[in-house]
Amino acid sequence: MGALRDSGSQKPIPEHLIASHEPDLDLGWCFSCKAHTTAKVVTKTWTNSEHRDVSRTYYVCKHCKRKNWYKPSDIYRGNKLGLGCLLIAVLITIIVFYSNKLFGFEYSTEFGLSSSGVVAIVLLLLGLGFSYQYKWRKWVRSQTQTTFGSSSNPSESQDPHG
Ligand SMILES: [Zn+2]
Repeated sequence: MGALRDSGSQKPIPEHLIASHEPDLDLGWCFSCKAHTTAKVVTKTWTNSEHRDVSRTYYVCKHCKRKNWYKPSDIYRGNKLGLGCLLIAVLITIIVFYSNKLFGFEYSTEFGLSSSGVVAIVLLLLGLGFSYQYKWRKWVRSQTQTTFGSSSNPSESQDPHG
């Protein structure tokens, strides 16, 4: 199987591993290499506690061999979905904690704890998603600055300097 190298991202990315130099939301982007690298599909198979074979497919960046390879459009969608889930989970938690005041129900500790757990997990995933989004946007800004920064923009009438 492929050799794993920790210092893989330190080396410059070979041109043949780069899918595009221009930011593209629907092209996979490696968050370790900070580039539109090409990736290969890896299928991991293992036996779970119920003695059933489970397999999971994910993309691995061909340059650094890491799993941090996602489509930015998927990250955006995931973050939106995560925010929606967070809102629902927070609402459920609030309702559960105040259930006896609001509806006269008895407070259920188990349900309260599990919904707080969901909130914590969603927050964790959102933190990861938004750090990805931040890295991507930072890269897009740096790419667009080097690519389009020097070209004149005649349609632009707004001056950033007030
Ligand atoms: Zn990479």
